[in-house]
Amino acid sequence: MGKALIIGAGGVASVVIHKCCQNPDVFEEICIASRTLSKCDAIKAKLDGGKTKIQTAQIDADNTEMLIGLIKKFGPDIVINVALPYQDLTIMDACLETGVHYLDTANYEPPDVAKFEYKWQWAYRERFEKAGITALLGSGFDPGVTSVFCAYAQKHYFDEIHYIDIVDANAGDHGYPFATNFNPEINIREITAKGSYWENGDWVETEPLELKKVYDLPEIGPKDIYLLHHEEIESLALNIKGVKRIRFWMTFSEKYITHLKVLENVGMTSIEPVKFEGREIIPLQFLKAVLPDPASLGPRTKGKTNIGCIIQGVKDGKPKTYYVYNVCVHEECYAEVGSQAISYTTGVPAMIGAMMILKGLWNKPGVYNIEEFDPDPFMDALNKCGLPWKESFSPELLD
Ligand code: NDP
Repeated sequence: MGKALIIGAGGVASVVIHKCCQNPDVFEEICIASRTLSKCDAIKAKLDGGKTKIQTAQIDADNTEMLIGLIKKFGPDIVINVALPYQDLTIMDACLETGVHYLDTANYEPPDVAKFEYKWQWAYRERFEKAGITALLGSGFDPGVTSVFCAYAQKHYFDEIHYIDIVDANAGDHGYPFATNFNPEINIREITAKGSYWENGDWVETEPLELKKVYDLPEIGPKDIYLLHHEEIESLALNIKGVKRIRFWMTFSEKYITHLKVLENVGMTSIEPVKFEGREIIPLQFLKAVLPDPASLGPRTKGKTNIGCIIQGVKDGKPKTYYVYNVCVHEECYAEVGSQAISYTTGVPAMIGAMMILKGLWNKPGVYNIEEFDPDPFMDALNKCGLPWKESFSPELLD
């Protein structure tokens, strides 16, 4: 059916590539292109010989001209961007120049400002529309599946949605006293940043980890959840008409928070250089060097994730509540594709989003967040491609 250029060869990319190869009728040919060619070749070596033809290329995705050259040479129908958020705009520019569809899983961040906003990518709307191509933004799990869950609830169960609580729980255990599931610097920056949520048309800011609740998650049990800012709140606030409040919660164990506080208190999370034995070092970079490599956690991580949306609103004039969620098992993900559930839950929806576009189910020219498309074929594909979802109509609510 089509050709996909996949940019990046990290944890998420590896899952996307495995999943494309499981759907060779849709992904007849793929090219894995990233900064380090050997990583692309290593993934190809694992999957070569199947129905999907695989090639690899070295690319600097910060360089639009180089991207245009590769796109012209390979001739894909879609570019799947699973590199880093810093590359979103250069890749969108290259797609515009060559008339190829675009997909990503995280919104653009300028390298020098830690700010999660869609304004830079939304500014491309008219140009994508004129070029007759689609940019699908945020096709991971959160943003991604959680946004589709809200669109599905809106379409099938509510006249009006008033409250959305997105709850992202990882009850996996890697056996280390302290390790981060992804890049320690980005992880620690996210957690130590101020939180925020959307209420009555405005952002409400909180101190870092100020709001904490306990939520009893299906198949996982009661967990401490903390309010964080998260990028899908911005687009859902626009696209779910009549919504009054949207909050995002993530689980952290007491052990994790205690370690983090100690490290912060002794200065180990600082990015200010310090003198050590005659040379300058950055404490956070040193910390990263002594912590377990996130990529090494896959084979050791056991347990489940549960990510979903608790939604309240009205139907036929009566109050209604709805909870839709996916439970994923770390060991099962590792057995299937060699990655733990964090990469799996992001990579599968990225492949499904590309499948929606290649199959012609989601083609509308312009720049769109994922909740702006018909949720039904995506929800069906989640059940078939490894992320089945469950629903409840009388969930425990968060006040
Ligand atoms: P990794 O760090 O594992 O992988 C990133 C890959 O991008 C690496 O292979 C890296 O190359 C490559 N890369 C970085 N810069 C460039 C460049 N300039 N040119 C070419 N390649 C480059 O990250 P993950 O796989 O964990 O995450 C991928 C994306 O998924 C991120 O944008 C992340 O924010 C997003 N994400 C989204 C989630 C969601 O639910 N929506 C959840 C988790 C992640 P090299 O190997 O040489 O370093």
